[in-house]
Amino acid sequence: MALTGIQIFKLLPGTNCKKCGSATCLAFAMNLASGKAELDSCPDVSDASREKLSAASAPPIRPVTVGSGSTAIKVGGETVQFRHEKTFFNPTAIGGVIDDTLSADDIAAKVKRWQALQYHRVGLNLRPELAIVKGGPNLAAAAKAVADNSDLSIILYSSDPAALKAATEVLAGRNPLIGPATIDNYKEVAAVAKEAKVPVWLKAKDLDEVAVLTKALNEAEIKDLVVDTGARTPKEVFKDSVAMRRAALVAQNRDYGYGTITFPCEITDNLALQVAVSAALVAKYAGIVVLSDMDGAVVFPLLLQRLNIFTDPQRPMTQTEGIYPINDPDENSPVLVTTNFSLTYFIVSGEVEASRVPSWLLIKDSEGLSVLTAWAAGKFSGDDVGQFILKRSGIVDKIKHKSVIIPGYAAAISGDMEEELPGWTVAIGPREAAHLTKFLKEFKVA
Ligand code: SF4
Repeated sequence: MALTGIQIFKLLPGTNCKKCGSATCLAFAMNLASGKAELDSCPDVSDASREKLSAASAPPIRPVTVGSGSTAIKVGGETVQFRHEKTFFNPTAIGGVIDDTLSADDIAAKVKRWQALQYHRVGLNLRPELAIVKGGPNLAAAAKAVADNSDLSIILYSSDPAALKAATEVLAGRNPLIGPATIDNYKEVAAVAKEAKVPVWLKAKDLDEVAVLTKALNEAEIKDLVVDTGARTPKEVFKDSVAMRRAALVAQNRDYGYGTITFPCEITDNLALQVAVSAALVAKYAGIVVLSDMDGAVVFPLLLQRLNIFTDPQRPMTQTEGIYPINDPDENSPVLVTTNFSLTYFIVSGEVEASRVPSWLLIKDSEGLSVLTAWAAGKFSGDDVGQFILKRSGIVDKIKHKSVIIPGYAAAISGDMEEELPGWTVAIGPREAAHLTKFLKEFKVA
């Protein structure tokens, strides 16, 4: 069990020396208990106390890495039950099942199709990350076909430890997640995982058995675990997902302090219903959702939902400051400037694109605030925007004219801008992006 702040405080030196960056040992203890500080920040803690405190500084839900390289995912590692308390860190990974009875050519075609499901939004690349290779005798060959034809991270799914061992050897360096370890085979699966140094997913028959299996696997020195509670109805899998999170964070029960893997594909054959179940599980704590197949209609809504849930609610989403050419602009094309709030960027860029008028869109860093808020907060002032256009944006090297369009809501900055931009014309655009098409079609650069 994790220690409370007061219990931690009693194990600290108590000198209030501030070397850890906290004003007092008590403040440091409270930060440590809530995961906001690292034990290593206190240089004076004794070895005996350090040993006792390691439990307190360990994350309540153990983070486990699956896969390697740029597509590696993290399961677990969450510290709050509700997103508004802080943020969720490790997005629910999405994958599809590869049956080992498929031919190597069919597997190659399938995983290449899955790998192509990539979408660029708000500066991020959204994609499914996983292939779940399922079967027995042909598991190793199927795993090799997936590895040879995609960068997807791989989960091995077989009740036969010998098949898991053979496939794990084929996937050396890819760090697959192997399982299921059950009450009947966990010793053999643990032996394979220990030798290959890979994480294990376990399958229990209910939540009580989850605790039995996590304890048993820990005793077998397998700490990197992902849990399948065994539930195979929408209601039960959702209930278990919430119960696991509550047990780990509220009751601080280490037996349940693991990320989860869920199988909507084993709840229903209907792919649309699998998506509906997955959507509930993305919202409520699943570490991994496994679908029977994936295409754009299946994964895109889940990726967008996931994007929204796993962003920090205390930090607005932003677009990178810079120049965004739209509709293939040239040196005579109009220039628009606005703030870097993602929603502002998407709405404005969408309207400019729809107008078919070649244009340069300048995005200025305004700490993620929308136009009116940024202006009111002094993050989109005339001199600042003028300096950005002239000195930082690089737009003067791309155009032959000297005119810029500012958002209608920021009309008040036009005077200051003209002082910063001698010889420039500052045009005031519409207040609403919906009116940009008409405005741009009629606009003449000075
Ligand atoms: S460094 Fe250690 S002893 Fe010093 S204030 Fe922080 S917790 Fe206390």
